[in-house]
Order: sequence, then structure tokens, then C-alpha cells
Amino acid sequence: MDLFSHSDDKQKAETRILELRVQIEHHNKRYHEDESPEISDTEYDMLFAELQKLEQEYPEYKAAESPTQKVGAQVKEGFKTAEHQLPMLSLGNAFSREDMEEFIQRIQRYLNMSDFPELVAEHKIDGLSCALHYQNGVLVKALTRGDGKIGEDITENVKTIHNVPQKLKGDTLPEFVEVRGEIHMYREDFDAFNAKQAKAGKKVFANPRNAAAGSVRQLNPEVTAERPLSFFGYAFGVKDESLSHLKNHSEELEIIKDFGFRLPESVKVLKNLDDLFKNYEQILKNRKAGDYLGQKAYAIDGVVYKVNDLTLQKRLGFVARAPRWAIAHKFPSEQATTRLNAIDIQIGRTGVATPVARLEPVNVSGVVVSNATLHNEDYINERDIRIGDTVFVERAGDVIPKVVSVVPQMRLDHTQKFVFPKHCPSCQSPLVRLEGEAAYRCENHFACPAQLEESLVHFVSKQAFDIDGVGEKQIKLFLELGFIKNPADIFTLLNYKEKLENLEGFGEKSVQKMLQSIEESKHISLPRFIISLGIPLIGAQLAEDLSAFYLSLDNLIDAMADDVKKQELLNQDAFGQKILDSLCAYFTQEQNLQIIKALQNAGVVIEAYEPPQIEDNIFNGKTIVLTGTLVTMKRDEAKNMLKSKGAKVSGSVSSKTDFVIAGESAGSKLKKAEELGIAILTEEEFKKLL
Ligand SMILES: [Zn+2]
Repeated sequence: MDLFSHSDDKQKAETRILELRVQIEHHNKRYHEDESPEISDTEYDMLFAELQKLEQEYPEYKAAESPTQKVGAQVKEGFKTAEHQLPMLSLGNAFSREDMEEFIQRIQRYLNMSDFPELVAEHKIDGLSCALHYQNGVLVKALTRGDGKIGEDITENVKTIHNVPQKLKGDTLPEFVEVRGEIHMYREDFDAFNAKQAKAGKKVFANPRNAAAGSVRQLNPEVTAERPLSFFGYAFGVKDESLSHLKNHSEELEIIKDFGFRLPESVKVLKNLDDLFKNYEQILKNRKAGDYLGQKAYAIDGVVYKVNDLTLQKRLGFVARAPRWAIAHKFPSEQATTRLNAIDIQIGRTGVATPVARLEPVNVSGVVVSNATLHNEDYINERDIRIGDTVFVERAGDVIPKVVSVVPQMRLDHTQKFVFPKHCPSCQSPLVRLEGEAAYRCENHFACPAQLEESLVHFVSKQAFDIDGVGEKQIKLFLELGFIKNPADIFTLLNYKEKLENLEGFGEKSVQKMLQSIEESKHISLPRFIISLGIPLIGAQLAEDLSAFYLSLDNLIDAMADDVKKQELLNQDAFGQKILDSLCAYFTQEQNLQIIKALQNAGVVIEAYEPPQIEDNIFNGKTIVLTGTLVTMKRDEAKNMLKSKGAKVSGSVSSKTDFVIAGESAGSKLKKAEELGIAILTEEEFKKLL
């Protein structure tokens, strides 16, 4: 045995341990106190795990002041503090199946049992833990986790969170109970909030948790009140005798729900390892697909497991900073930090010029990311994102990866501001930014190579001309062979019949079928024709509304060239200035009018508009008001659904209102509806009726 190398290793370990402690303390401070992290959660977890491992191997260097022995954050100056009667610890982490197996074995060893200890699995919400104290059912105090023993008193701030009950529901309430849970932001609330911050030149947060923490730890509750915070309950802390009959954690959760708290829909009781891993994979899959079991998307960074039996929980107790009876199996972080090397412009189907970040390739939850969207010019400027910066990249669900923010502390000297180009990189025509719009566009449409292929694919698609046998692959090929140069050429493909039949993958029969489908598609409804043009912002619903208003394409084109007629459109409920601008820009461009003419010359006939038939249903012809926050769908979605059922959606309640659909925290409109005796539907009832 080589004694020298052994002591060498030991020395190296000691140095590394000290190094890691300093690094982790630094990141703790950035994360918990300043709410501006410099590294992603995964990178942090890796440092932490390395330190834990070294301290286990070299127990002589263990120390009480090591971050592995401490919980969370220091108390922020300016806050009153209070002690937790029951410590509020953080959870140990598992990163692999082996870690989870070890967790189970540890429990079995400790309790000297061989059975699988029944576990409750819950989403690990990426927010800020908080303890709420209820005296006779009334919220009297709210504390942050703090260092686990002493937390910050954030009572006034928490009172502003819309779904934290000020009073618990129920007839017999405990004299005292502490409900613990997570303050968080739903994804869409976070995105909207961050965009608002950026626009105002204020701090942009890297993730929903930092935003939630930064919002609730405000000295002025009025600031907190303006932030879109929400709350999920997850456990009891201290509870009085009246709840001592509860045997299981899953029963606790039921009571918490009955008290009026929202719980994530994911709670599951598990009886063996197989189910545990299956459940984990399912949650991971759902997160990827953006499926939150009927709720709006929120940030989850893993699955929490707790021993269900409360007596066993008590017996298992705690080690250092974490309970023995619970663990968090973490997901790979959806974020990473990397260098932004360059910014390019991509022209999309509708001509939108999107800046794309070229990144130093980086692994984000298992996928190497080297490109990410920067959305638009304002997004870059508001966040002061420069070429050469270190940035946070995020890949959440199936959404395209995006640059979230820069890491300002990591900015080097020679970063470069990005100047948005003046010309389309594909056709060199000027890029135009319409008033009130964030995006630059190339307005060349079918005449811009970057837009032509995708425009044509859209043109033949189901919702437009609906031509069988022509899709992306065929369009690409026909363009390459020079059979088509614009949409009108599709209707003269008959001229290439023989050549087509001799192409690989095309038989006589399939060419025959394709040409027949092209022939049949020539008679097209007005809404479909409008969709086929690919006008920015004009989707199926608006195309339908436009058709109903103008009845013919000529009327629409005429109106767009006439200042008085143009304004008439704005008086319609469905159309705003942006949509009008987009229509005007399209129908006043000579090239676009020529394309329409060419289509008509090629035999396209636009049929006279016929309003769609609506099947009889309870909403048809009714006037409906939406109020409060809908949990399972966006308001626009609800509006469109109602419209498609023939309902009129109005903004205010009057005696003419037939129904009011009331979401969470509905206010004055709901009151007025009650006064007027109008039928009120909950979100659930509404969905059932749909
Ligand atoms: Zn172009």
C-alpha cells in the first residue's frame, strides 16, 4: 500500500471539500437571498452531491458549518422572524433508481421490517416553502422555511395570495393547525410577469421559483399583491388534538383539501417499487407533454415520496437537515447555463423574422441544445442579452428551447450588442415592423424563398385547400424540379403528368388521385381561401369571422383600400387594430393581389359564403359572461368554445345575461349576477355542459 499517495488523496479531498463549501455557500446566497442564480439547479445539485460524497468518504472533514448540514437560507434583513415549533427541514435528494432503492432499504433497516413501506408520491413543486398558522380556522401567521428553525414572518404578504384561505372551510375546525405548502407561480403567470418586468426595465427572473421567492419576500405587501402568486398545500406541521386521530399522510392531504386548499392532482399511494418507478416515468412524461392533469402548467422539479404511516414517520425521525421518512427524486433540470456565440435571423412561414441564439452546445434535461429562440427585438433589448454573454437556456415540455435571461454576474468585457438586421436574409427585401407589433416581417410571402416552401405546404394543408397526396415532401420536390414557383402553379401540374408518373414513389394511380384532388379543391369556401393565403395573425376563427362580415373576397379587398370601410371592421368585437394592420399590409401589396388573380385565372373559384350550421345546444343564442380565473383552460379558449356553440360572450353582467361562468376568485360580476338572479355555472359545470 502506497502511504504517500493515500495521504495525497486525502489532502486533495480536503482541498476539494473546502472549495466546494465556498462555492455552494456562494450559490446558496445568490439563490436564496438575491433570487438570481448563476448556475442551473442540476449544476448546483452536482456540486452538492459531490460534497456529500466526499464528506462521507472522509468523515474527519465533516463540519457543522458545512452547507450539507444546513437548511435553506439566511433571514432577510427587515423581516420579523419567528421560530418553527416543529422544524421545517428540506428534503434529501435522489438522482437515480439506485438512490431510491437505497432510500427504501434504509427505511427497512431502520424499522427492522422487510415489507415495502407504503409511500405517498406528490409533485415536487418548484416554489418557496411556507408554513401557515390557523387559529380557530383563521390565518394568523405565515413563515418562510428560513434556516429550518427560524423563518421570516411573511403574514401580510401571504394574505394577498388569491388561493390561500384566510379562513378554513368546515364546521368543526381545529383550535390550532399549521398547513405547510409551496408558494409558486403557474408557468403562464410567470411568463407574463417576467415580460412585464422586462418591459419596465426591472429584474427578470430565471425561473418561477426565484420569481415566487422574490415576490413573497418583499417588505411591502402591496408589491406582493401585484405578483401572480399561487399556493399548493402539502402537509400539516403542528396540529392539535382534534387531528390526532389521523393515521396516514394521505388522510392529511384529504383534510387539507377539505380546508379549502388546492393540491396538485398527482398525489398517489404506492405499495411497491415497480409502481413507484412507473409513476415517476409517467409524471416525467406528462411534464414533457405539458399535461398537468387538468390544471394549468406549473414548475415541478421532481417527485416527493413520504412514508404514508404517520407513526412510522415519527419513529424514523430526522438526520441533520432532512427527514428520514421522505425524499425527493429529482428530474433533470429544464435549465442550463451556456455561452451565446451568435444571433441569426430565421424567416418563418408568415414572414416573421425570429432571432435565434447560436449556443455553445449544452445538455438540457437529456437533450443537447445548440439553438434557442430569442423571440424578438424587444425581448433581446429588454433583457440586455448580448453576443458573448452567459445565458440561462430553458427547455420546458415540448416548447422550443428559449433563452430566459443573461447571468449578469458572468458578463465579460467584450460582449456585443445585437443590431436587428434591416433586410430579409432570404430575399433581401426590407424587414418591416408594424406599429404596435413586436416582430419584424418580410412581406414578400409567396415571393420570398424562405417563406415559399412553408407557405405552399400551408396552402395545400387540410385547413386550407386540403389537397390529398401533396404535402411537405412533394412541395419540396416540385419546387426543386421547377414544376411550381407559386401557388397558382399547383393547378397547372396536369402539364407535368407524364413526368410525375415517372418520378420515384409516384405511380400512375397516385398521380391520377393527386390531380383529381387538385381539381376538386378548386372550388373552395371563402374562409378556407383566406386561411390559405397565410396572412399573419389570421387563423381559422378570424377567417370565419371575416367571411361572415364581408361575404366575398372582393368586398374584403375593397374595404382594406378604403379608410372609412376599414374602420367599420374595428367596431366588430373580434377584430383589433393589429389584425386590421395585418390585413391592410397584405391586401395592399401588389404582389399578393397578383397571386390571388393568378389563382383565379388558374381556375380557383371561391364559393359564396354560407354561415356554418350550429347543432342545437344549451349555449346557442345565449349571452354569457365569464368572470374569475379559470383553472383548466385559458379564457380565450373558453370564449372560442362558447362562440363555436353559437353563444355571444359579453364583458358585463346585465338583465340580458343568460349565464355567468364563475372561475376562482370571481368578484363584482358574480355578485351582480347573484343580485339579478342569473344562472351561475362553476367551471366544472360549464365543462360538463360542453
Ligand atoms: Zn424575404
